[in-house]
Amino acid sequence: MAQQGNSEFDLIARHFTRPAANAVLGVGDDCALLQVTNGMDLAVSTDTMVSGTHFFPEVDPEHLGHKALAVNLSDMAAMGAMPYWATLALTLPSVDHAWLGAFAKGFFDLAEEFNVSLVGGDTTRGPLSLNVTIMGEVPAGAALRRSGAKAGNDIWVSGHIGDAALAVAHRKGFIKLDDADVEETLMHLYEPIPRVQLGQALRGLATSAIDISDGLLADLGHICRLSGVGATVEMDRIPMTDIARKHAATDLGRTAIVSGGDDYELCFTAHPNSRESIADLAGMLGFPLTRIGQVKRGKGVSLLGTDGKAMKVDGRGYDHFSGS
Ligand code: ADP
Ligand code: MG
Repeated sequence: MAQQGNSEFDLIARHFTRPAANAVLGVGDDCALLQVTNGMDLAVSTDTMVSGTHFFPEVDPEHLGHKALAVNLSDMAAMGAMPYWATLALTLPSVDHAWLGAFAKGFFDLAEEFNVSLVGGDTTRGPLSLNVTIMGEVPAGAALRRSGAKAGNDIWVSGHIGDAALAVAHRKGFIKLDDADVEETLMHLYEPIPRVQLGQALRGLATSAIDISDGLLADLGHICRLSGVGATVEMDRIPMTDIARKHAATDLGRTAIVSGGDDYELCFTAHPNSRESIADLAGMLGFPLTRIGQVKRGKGVSLLGTDGKAMKVDGRGYDHFSGS
């Protein structure tokens, strides 16, 4: 496959060539051709997933196809951008058409849901890794950045936090989930729902945004650093599923929930005047948007317990739980 040959050509034709409705030219030539709308900024992001680092090697390829695109769509969501085009660079140890078919299904099912066209890529032989580059548009000057949070803003998150990290913690033997809970948390880990519509709706409403890939506190920390502010988060306000709630009182459970990643929910800040609009938005979108804390002067993120005192969070949590 490293060299041009029928097998690479066949593989691309069989699994990765679909009409690219919104591109001037899609898969097949030396470049894809894309037309950017006047008055829009081109938003570009890329993410690589390496076997054993970002996913368990035995993961269902359909889930992997979904996740490879989902994590990129999530970056578009975090900027308030509309995703249109993706490229896919695949490094494969061998050609396994059943595996590729399932991977392509997971990828294209999600791509169709969000009207994203696969317009190109690359295919090489080597240890399994996947790279997706996503491109989209956002009205010039209107993108949601990490740098706009102001002291006094509210901090919000979408959906529920912690299930994906609990699945990883269980899988690695740090936590024991009930049998019935394993499958459900694994779905959160393998099939995150990128909050693309929310991101676009937050343009003009949120002052900053990020998607939660590395962990709630770490990602909120990125907003704080780039905005030159600090933050407090109240543990009791963090929205959790019933499964996560069972583990929130233990040290390892709490660490997974606040420091584990992979939820791909959005964390954003907004002026308190926007509370009603954001509540309306949650009603429209059909999933919760929850206020979990406040932006403060200063720096760093602190997690407050019920007594209002800062809680200790195991800083190594990130190392334990990353690597889903
Ligand atoms: P080149 O030699 O110019 O890099 P390739 O033979 O690698 O071209 O690819 C041929 C065409 O197939 C190009 O349009 C490329 O974008 C596309 N392509 C290659 N691999 C993939 C893939 N995994 N998914 C989608 N398109 C791909
Ligand atoms: Mg190539």
